[in-house]
Amino acid sequence: MSKLFNGYVTHPGLVRKQNEDYLGFYPTENGTFVIVADGMGGMGNGQVASKLAVDTMRDIHVKNPTTAPMEVIRTSAVAANQAIANEVAQHPELDGMGTTVVVAFFKGNQVFIGHVGDSRAYLIRPKQILQITKDHTSVQQMVDEGLIAPEQAATHPMAHVVQRALGHRKNFEMEIAATPLDLQSGDTLLLCSDGLTDLVKDNEIQSIVAEYDPQTACNILLDLALNRGAHDNTTIQIIRYGVKTWSEQVRRTSKISPIPKEAFEKDSGKPNDTVFIPFSWARIPFLWKIRLVVLLFILLFLGVFIAFSLVTSPGETQPDPDEEAAGPHMQNHYVSTDFEPQPRCFDNEYRLLV
Ligand code: CA
Repeated sequence: MSKLFNGYVTHPGLVRKQNEDYLGFYPTENGTFVIVADGMGGMGNGQVASKLAVDTMRDIHVKNPTTAPMEVIRTSAVAANQAIANEVAQHPELDGMGTTVVVAFFKGNQVFIGHVGDSRAYLIRPKQILQITKDHTSVQQMVDEGLIAPEQAATHPMAHVVQRALGHRKNFEMEIAATPLDLQSGDTLLLCSDGLTDLVKDNEIQSIVAEYDPQTACNILLDLALNRGAHDNTTIQIIRYGVKTWSEQVRRTSKISPIPKEAFEKDSGKPNDTVFIPFSWARIPFLWKIRLVVLLFILLFLGVFIAFSLVTSPGETQPDPDEEAAGPHMQNHYVSTDFEPQPRCFDNEYRLLV
């Protein structure tokens, strides 16, 4: 089985009371099944839909160890859609619930990708990020038809209107990448709900994922979304193939090949802009944390020592301005108490008197 290093995080955000996102990372006999689901439906019903979808798809992957991955992904999505419909049939108050999903199935050095809705998958390599999935949203369709510019999509009033979702009566078909991606050591996949991509730009995601191990990168990306208001539930999974960090990969083989240009659609291969990452204690390596704490203690000790020395030393007495005014002859009037007067030559004086 291929070696995968993963990290994940899910958070309700700062506005929503419930977290309707759900995720899973499941090693199976056939490979590793990874999923992020973003439930919807109001009144917290999305929570039911996203968990039901993840559990149903996981079970089908576990029960079909010999079937081709693409076929299992397709079958499991249909089953998840049916499971949501069955749940609504039994509990009419759940009517209207649904969920987006993005899935990745790792088998050997390949990964199979599928999605419904606007949860995304990215492939990340040094200085490159490729959005593998295309959102099933009205604004994405407008972008495709040239009605709006890609930069207008995120802030468009219809930005969150999805055209497909599991649980939808008609439009629930999962889009599966026609061919699996061939992975090279160091390749990183990021799956996320739109809570992340609404607030954090692709180049920011790339920079952070490039620099840190999967779990640290997840934590920093979540911090960034929270710093920017986190108006939605936010879920991130990062899976790196072969090595835990890129620096480790560079030590081993000296390079990672770039993503081929033809993989990018026009203008989507963004340059690696400078990204400001807010300070976070979580991203400091453990060894450096210890060094910083020791340094802090040394500085504290030195500070206390210097302050103590200043308090206990007598210091220089400032000359009295009145005495200064009196003239230079008054300046050395301090007399040591252990002064011993020199003996005088009274003998000579005595002789003279005699
Ligand atoms: Ca969402």
